[in-house]
Amino acid sequence: MSEAALGTVADRPPVYLDANATTPVDPAVLEAMLPYFSAIFGNPSSQHAAGRQAKAALAEARARVAALIGATEGEIVFTSGGTESVNAAIRTALEADPKRKVLVTTAVEHAAVRALADRLEAQGIVVRRVPVEGTGALDLDAFEAALDEDVAVVSAMWANNETGTIFPVAELAEKAKAVGALFHTDAVQAAGKLRIDVAATAIDLLSFSGHKLHGPKGSGVLYVRRGLKVHPLIAGGRQERGRRAGTENVPAIVGLGVAAEIAAQCDLSRVQGLRDRLEAELMARIPAAMVLGDRAARLPNTSCIAFAGADAEAVLHRLDRAGIAAASGAACSAGSVEPSHVLRAMAVPDTFARGAIRLSLLRNAADADISRVVAVLPEIVAGLRPPCRRSQSAPERLHA
Ligand code: PLP
Repeated sequence: MSEAALGTVADRPPVYLDANATTPVDPAVLEAMLPYFSAIFGNPSSQHAAGRQAKAALAEARARVAALIGATEGEIVFTSGGTESVNAAIRTALEADPKRKVLVTTAVEHAAVRALADRLEAQGIVVRRVPVEGTGALDLDAFEAALDEDVAVVSAMWANNETGTIFPVAELAEKAKAVGALFHTDAVQAAGKLRIDVAATAIDLLSFSGHKLHGPKGSGVLYVRRGLKVHPLIAGGRQERGRRAGTENVPAIVGLGVAAEIAAQCDLSRVQGLRDRLEAELMARIPAAMVLGDRAARLPNTSCIAFAGADAEAVLHRLDRAGIAAASGAACSAGSVEPSHVLRAMAVPDTFARGAIRLSLLRNAADADISRVVAVLPEIVAGLRPPCRRSQSAPERLHA
């Protein structure tokens, strides 16, 4: 495709299809936050009126966040984001019963869990990583086989950031409980997109992040089931009932509260319809392409599509030049693009895995966004494929 055909970003409004990376702050969230940078600036730990005002704002935000996930207010700990919450949850769970030295997790977790698991392993914790099937669904037999009385904690993500695949966390939590282990879930991609009711499950610890649900960056939540003692990651003051030291980021927490309240009212079925149209139209127009991830259990806004023989980074670069923001799970190392650990775990053939991109829709995605991608992506992929691939016509679907 020629540069002229792609046009410049300034010609049209950009199309943002990278909601799983981050989302814009909702205008109502921003409005709610602003006074807490100026007029209402007190420290919630202070005993005077200004402090009490800030403390009241925290309480209101806590109630809103608790309502989003079916928790009680005392079970909510505010953190700096998903990564901190995950670290605090897993470390806390490992300290709950020093006799248990095993962490069970999955092969497709986000770096927040993966990197921590690697570090803990180097420090003597036994880590069992449960594989997934070709669809991205968790291998439930392997999961059961990984559980025994040595397991301190199971950490399994609710929904995958690359493919959108949803794990049956309520069922997994029950199985963990049956061997006396604690259960943590990284719900960073699930919160605000799927209904969460922790009270109806055996989940002990749950993490999510504000910036994935139109809240501010630097805000996050750790849900801790009542009765479970948390060891704070950093030593310091008694904020968050001694569960997270450091003066609270009041403006961000206020924003997170409002974002949670708005997210609780959102219905993503329209977005799912747009995602489905996007996939159907791309599959009809692009040969040798496939949708990755368990179609039956997938986030409504996420599509991971692989184009055999096309280089994902080059596809993204051209999409970017056409004003379309998307992502890939591929990581550049030593000059070559390596398929992500998620696609490797799913045993996606290399030629597809290297050409896999993720399109994740914002909750206010427009029909025109989809039409724009459908208008430019087939030509971009065709232009990047080796000549023999370009002549293929039948779409390939491995995981239909
Ligand atoms: N877990 C998952 C599944 C994610 O997608 C992300 C962010 O991409 C994180 C954890 C990390 O969250 P945060 O950016 O708030 O630290």
